[in-house]
Amino acid sequence: MAALILTLLGLTTIISCYLLFKEKRQNTQLKQHNQQMALALDHVNACIYIKDADSRYLYANKPCLELFGVDQHALKGSPDARYFPIETVQRLRQIDLQVLEQQQASRQEVEVTDETGHTTVYLESKYPLPYNKAENKTLVGISTDITELWTLRKQLEQQAWHDGLTGLYNRLKIDQIFTEQLNLAKTQQHPFSIMILDLDLFKAINDEYGHQVGDQVLQQAAHVIQKSCQTKPIASRWGGEEFLIVCPYMSQEQTLALANQIRLAIKSAHYPVKKTVTTSIGIATLNDDFNGDALLKRADDALYLAKNSGRDTVVCAGTDTACAEPVTCYTD
Ligand code: GH3
Ligand code: MG
Ligand code: MG
Repeated sequence: MAALILTLLGLTTIISCYLLFKEKRQNTQLKQHNQQMALALDHVNACIYIKDADSRYLYANKPCLELFGVDQHALKGSPDARYFPIETVQRLRQIDLQVLEQQQASRQEVEVTDETGHTTVYLESKYPLPYNKAENKTLVGISTDITELWTLRKQLEQQAWHDGLTGLYNRLKIDQIFTEQLNLAKTQQHPFSIMILDLDLFKAINDEYGHQVGDQVLQQAAHVIQKSCQTKPIASRWGGEEFLIVCPYMSQEQTLALANQIRLAIKSAHYPVKKTVTTSIGIATLNDDFNGDALLKRADDALYLAKNSGRDTVVCAGTDTACAEPVTCYTD
């Protein structure tokens, strides 16, 4: 009997020792694995971090720690407010909350401007980490500095959407804006108008002073137009010496007043020519029955009438569907 007890005790001891050894080996392996993972993450060219439900940092890789100027110990539990300006903190919190509450991945571009005015743009990819009821929600984030790409994209957009001579939106961009704003006006039932401007007898300026001076006159006229369109109206170079201004939320009366203001401003601006530079303007205002093409046609017809009325004139197409007769004119 004693021998049996001794054998059982011996067996139990051996099994316990084996289990202890196994657990220790597993812990060592886990520790090694974690160290390897951390080392790998430290060599990724992006900021990688884990944040808790209050957007406080639990972990960050080396590039992130270097950016923040802290070590892992100082980072633990720190908020974004320690590293970013207040506007950025609010934006980051907004994204974090969306990821944590909806448990959905998010990919956003975030612009960070420091106190010297220097802007860095990050692509922020964030993912909710799996959690159970006993734990708080956490997320993992990967932030990549995309400032160079972003700047290049902005430059390309500038070139693709703007007219090289005047800096105004080009036809490609204004076509897009026109369609978007027209659809918005139709669905939201708010007023919408457009005006087409054409510089008067511009060919004569080119003929007398040369194309280069003609270009300078065009630039100056565009500058005057742009200055008059600071709030709602959106100005563009429609082509040649023609400009299209899209006027969302503007009634016929408001558009007419603006058009006359532009007409007078163009006439009184300074140009490198001895001639008086003038413009003719055609206006059309949206009515339930018009589509975009019809609206453009009415504005163009009104412009034609303005030219035929002696130029330096504003003509407004009627809003009556059946009759496009001009309702109001401005001239000297
Ligand atoms: P109207 O009052 O009837 O509009 O007469 P206009 O002379 O302005 O009209 P027309 O269409 O006969 O001439 C427009 C001129 O605009 C002809 C063209 O050479 C000139 N033009 C178009 N684009 C440019 C440009 O980018 N630079 C210069 N300098 N001239 C341009
Ligand atoms: Mg023209
Ligand atoms: Mg002209």
